[in-house]
Amino acid sequence: METCILIVEDEKDLLEILEYNLKKEGYFVKSSLNGQGGLAALDTTPIPELVILDLMLPDISGIEICRRLRANPKTRDIPVLMLTAKSEEIDRVIGFEVGADDYVTKPFSVRELMLRVKALLKRSATRETPGEEIVFGALKIDVPAHRVWVNEEETVLTALEFNLLTTLYERKGRVQTREVLLCDVWDINADVTTRTVDTHVKRLREKIGLAGVYIETVRGVGYRFAGRINEGGV
Ligand code: CA
Repeated sequence: METCILIVEDEKDLLEILEYNLKKEGYFVKSSLNGQGGLAALDTTPIPELVILDLMLPDISGIEICRRLRANPKTRDIPVLMLTAKSEEIDRVIGFEVGADDYVTKPFSVRELMLRVKALLKRSATRETPGEEIVFGALKIDVPAHRVWVNEEETVLTALEFNLLTTLYERKGRVQTREVLLCDVWDINADVTTRTVDTHVKRLREKIGLAGVYIETVRGVGYRFAGRINEGGV
């Protein structure tokens, strides 16, 4: 079956361009010119495997839609690519508060957007590979189910945060530069900056609470998952 992508965008011309190009690439496209329709499309089959979401919508904001999507267990793992015209909103959009997986700032090229879409879908598909349960101190990760617990309390991560956490864990004890993480976790060489890595690590640490200490900052280099658990379990 074709991969289903939902576009929520109130600029009709832009919506049509995106729709045309995604269909040309072989995707099944659902679209809405407003937030209400977008939420309805998230609740009907086929459930989209990716959402392209405009930040500024006439009824419900992209931020609110993203929050609701993350709050629903049925939709919380769907990657969200946010379209934004306001660069100052970016930290909020990809930050803890909203939880989009990636963003592009308008105006953007269709080619750029397609690359982001493919990267997000690829990232989300690799998560489907069967894995195992990881237990490291206070942290427990059910890899196939994409669920994370800290001291038995579940914390909800976005697809990107989950991938960041498991990528760091798989290479525990070894420093990963921001560039390597960008390449392996974000999987694009486009114009995301190394600051993006810092923003996501910060958010991931906040979400995993006391297990955040396992992700160590190596000044001037990057990040490292702790090689072993310190005394006391944390
Ligand atoms: Ca808009």
